[in-house]
Amino acid sequence: MAERMISRGDSAAAAWLPDALPSSERPVNGDLALIEETRSGSPDAFLELWVRHVSSVARFTYRLIGSEAATHSVINEAFAAVMLDIARDRPDRHRIGLEPFRLSVYRAVADLVGHPLPSRDAVPAVLRGLRRLSPRLQSILWYRDVEAVQAREVGRLLGESPADIVSARSPALERLRAEWILTLLEDPTVRDSCAWNLRRAGSRSTGSLSWASTARYDRHQRGCSWCQSFGQDLDSPATALVREAVRIFTVPRSDSQPGMTPVATVDELR
Ligand SMILES: [Zn+2]
Repeated sequence: MAERMISRGDSAAAAWLPDALPSSERPVNGDLALIEETRSGSPDAFLELWVRHVSSVARFTYRLIGSEAATHSVINEAFAAVMLDIARDRPDRHRIGLEPFRLSVYRAVADLVGHPLPSRDAVPAVLRGLRRLSPRLQSILWYRDVEAVQAREVGRLLGESPADIVSARSPALERLRAEWILTLLEDPTVRDSCAWNLRRAGSRSTGSLSWASTARYDRHQRGCSWCQSFGQDLDSPATALVREAVRIFTVPRSDSQPGMTPVATVDELR
């Protein structure tokens, strides 16, 4: 069923691919550079962003609304809304400034079709942590892990070599883990006793806590299901990222990875 839907979404996208921009003339810049060029008034730069992302946006839109005819108009409106946001350089950074670019368009689609998104406070901590990374690292983790896009394609989107994308993923996940913990430490809903353990999780894993602190840490850990669950998540930030992303968006994954579910749902980042 999902395969069929994606196939139909692709055909919807193909109908909207502009043919006025031969591939040999397309810029090789990354998305961020294209956004800046768009902000400076270059319609060609935004057209390139369209070409790069319209297929995925079409699949995303089709999954939300199930109507090929309506998909066409929603895609059109969503890209137009994002282009306006870029041109206006919206100070609230509701969409623009959020990397990856494609997620900005997904958000615009969700707005247009009334797909519910969580309030800022309701966004899962791992996604709030992701938002604290640089646009580049956000993009790498989003495209590689959430959407399962191949490194070569991610490199094209970011204007980097595939090798750079591959080598950046592990440090990006480490950064995500750190920012995720910081996000929780700033979260008033996290209990003080849990925060005490959170601050010492690294020291505990390296065995550098004092005997007394180790005893306190372990005692809390044994009795706290929240800390136990979070500890498991922290072992695999990528898994937690994808899982949490599933709750809000229905994000198309790359078709190029056999055996993978072609579609994952992904959480909102605000
Ligand atoms: Zn706890």
